[in-house]
Amino acid sequence: MVEPVIHAVVDQDSFAMIETARLEWVKFEAVGPEAVAKEFFRWQNPDHISLHLDHIPVIDEDGLQVDYLADIRQAIDLGYHSVMVDGSRLPLSENISATRQVAELAHKAGIPCEAELGAIMGHEAGPLPPYDELFASGKGFTKVEQARHFVSESGCDWLSVAIGNIHGAISRGLKDQKKIAAQLDLDHLQKLAQALSIPLVLHGGSGIPREYVLASFQKGIAKINIATEIRQAYESALQTTGNLSAAQDAVYERTCWLIGDYFALSGIRAVVTQESP
Ligand SMILES: [Zn+2]
Repeated sequence: MVEPVIHAVVDQDSFAMIETARLEWVKFEAVGPEAVAKEFFRWQNPDHISLHLDHIPVIDEDGLQVDYLADIRQAIDLGYHSVMVDGSRLPLSENISATRQVAELAHKAGIPCEAELGAIMGHEAGPLPPYDELFASGKGFTKVEQARHFVSESGCDWLSVAIGNIHGAISRGLKDQKKIAAQLDLDHLQKLAQALSIPLVLHGGSGIPREYVLASFQKGIAKINIATEIRQAYESALQTTGNLSAAQDAVYERTCWLIGDYFALSGIRAVVTQESP
């Protein structure tokens, strides 16, 4: 998938990150951070693409403890341009200390560190609670005062926030289903953006209605993570044709459509600073 995504981003004259998360080599066929980096550096184009290590959880979606520092160190050594540690399943103080460790490692290497605060559900096995109830209650949303404290204590550079967004399902039986069209609490996002002076990240970006996504870009979201959209395009083309290049074509087309038609980000290139924070 790396090659067609990069071609699409370059052809749309836009900017994106190739992201891989631990669950993609544990539960899917990404092989590992080294395999992804190798493919990335084969097609790299620094004006348009960087390489990001997404979710390295401290406690994973199955409740298991992860040697997150080892994974982060490996990615830094492989040349990843940014890393994420996900301590969102931990109590606040433990999330802060895990994130601080990773931020220090990242900053020593001159790269930014993303963290997550709040509960962005969806990766766990089993059914989600009814979405409308979840959204209406605001349960699990990133709290403004906590976020302010978290960012200043942890030293993270970007923050993944929970504002109604949910991750795509990864469990067998659920991962091929159409994602719920999540809503975003844009007033809450605005409060978070005002309280924090760092870029905010929207995880679970697939399937969010367009008007919410475009408004979120105006209110503080600087990075949107898309996985399900392009993974499902890849898998369904591969399943129907049995042909790898047809699956790559499907990824290319879907990525072009997302950047150009859905997010209206053609011709827009982020300025990515690689200086030490
Ligand atoms: Zn995520």
